[in-house]
Amino acid sequence: MQLVSTRAARLNGYHGIVPEGILSDVTEVAEKLRGLRVIHINATAQGGGVAEILKSLVPLMRDVGLQTEWYAMLPDDSFFSISKTLHHSLQGGSSVPSAADFTCYQAQNEKAVNSLKSMGVTADLWFIHDAQVLPMLAYMNSDIGVWICHVDTTRPNEEVRQMLFPYMTKYKRIIASMPEYFPNGNNPTEVVVIPPAIDPLQPKHRQMTYSQARQIMAGLGMDHDRPIISQVSRFDKWKDPWGVADAYRLAKKEVPGLQLAFVGAMTAKDDFDACEILKNLQGYCRDDSDIHIFSDPQLIGDREVNAFQSGSDVVLQKSIREGFGLTVAEAMWKERPLIGGNCGGIRHQIRDGETGFLVDNPSDCAERIVTLLRNPDVAESMGRAGKESVRGKYLMPRLLRDYLYLASDLVN
Ligand code: UDP
Repeated sequence: MQLVSTRAARLNGYHGIVPEGILSDVTEVAEKLRGLRVIHINATAQGGGVAEILKSLVPLMRDVGLQTEWYAMLPDDSFFSISKTLHHSLQGGSSVPSAADFTCYQAQNEKAVNSLKSMGVTADLWFIHDAQVLPMLAYMNSDIGVWICHVDTTRPNEEVRQMLFPYMTKYKRIIASMPEYFPNGNNPTEVVVIPPAIDPLQPKHRQMTYSQARQIMAGLGMDHDRPIISQVSRFDKWKDPWGVADAYRLAKKEVPGLQLAFVGAMTAKDDFDACEILKNLQGYCRDDSDIHIFSDPQLIGDREVNAFQSGSDVVLQKSIREGFGLTVAEAMWKERPLIGGNCGGIRHQIRDGETGFLVDNPSDCAERIVTLLRNPDVAESMGRAGKESVRGKYLMPRLLRDYLYLASDLVN
């Protein structure tokens, strides 16, 4: 296991950005938890939504007085390939790990616990994130842990759910991003619904004007005088990049100058199948020089992601499964009009027709793209409504407050 270092964060920095009531709630509950030793564990220190959340949540917990650390698994190819299978199958994928693979997954989790023990790491409360590290609590002999399931488990692969079920029962609580992921009556333990959040103070979300963003995109080869639509995401089948390309092709018949950008820097060490999806997508889009696919982490950093989210004429997140979809909240925070797949956490974030559009297929998506490009006033008012919705519900201090409420409930 590796101890992950994070930048310092201050709760005080959020005054004037999030509702004051949330900040005073945090201060009040944190007072009762001062000195509590809390450890977060996940599979990877970099890449994807969980790492994104922890790099803000961990230093904020520290700032309000909890002794908080974050440990991540050390990269290991065979482990990540198995855990990726589990991750996909919890979202409904058909593959099931072999008995040998499952044994390897258990052994890796046990090894990780031994590594923590050898470092002398202890906690009053463990927050264990996602299926990759779910068995760890069972090897710790601890009875005070919370498992956070960040994926969309509306229709899980039943065989895999059964394999993981005994590990879920070890936890005091499960955190799900949406109520429908663990419907009442069939749960291993009590479920608490806490949707994730974004951090407006991260450099990636620093305010950037439309024209600054267009300049940065131009530097990457986009034509800043023609309309641009984009999807910022890992290359993953549930993000439906092929559906995005299909929607773009249909919309381009009405808007001939249209360009499409896929932005997905390949940084997550556990994303072994992203390379295959990327290769397939490159083949699928080969015939069109107005489709730009960015995957090189040397080219795509926070500044570039910010630029695509702040300067695209329409932002897409056309997923078919999505635990939450931080990218949705991120684009809304930047006041961009957004079209999201009608699934999981996206359905909860977007009020259809008000803070964005929800779509079920590429042709509906194309229709909405054309509507937004032809009606800039509609696009603008959606962008504004989206930002206010994120301010009230999906910014980091709210997530901090909800974790602290849960901690207070468990340790008292
Ligand atoms: N992201 C990024 N660079 C990229 C693509 C994505 O920094 O090239 C970030 C994105 O801004 C978001 C996170 O990765 O913060 C993805 O989280 P989300 O919940 O949308 O999806 P996940 O990858 O967890 O399925």
